[in-house]
Amino acid sequence: MKVQCDVCAADAASVFCCADEAALCDACDRRVHRANKLAGKHRRFSLLNPSPSSASPSQMPPPLCDICQVRIG
Ligand SMILES: [Zn+2]
Ligand SMILES: [Zn+2]
Repeated sequence: MKVQCDVCAADAASVFCCADEAALCDACDRRVHRANKLAGKHRRFSLLNPSPSSASPSQMPPPLCDICQVRIG
């Protein structure tokens, strides 16, 4: 699943900014968040490599099969 960058709408987003509630590609992430000190404090998480420490497993229910709605695994 690919998420498109909310800023340029051209590239695939690689990070999601919680403060902006926007998905950004690498280039836009750098441009937006290096623009000023405040933006640099935005918490972002990677859409490509979700870090286990930031996402609690209990908050992320396992995906269900679209067809049978039975838990995979
Ligand atoms: Zn972009
Ligand atoms: Zn931001």
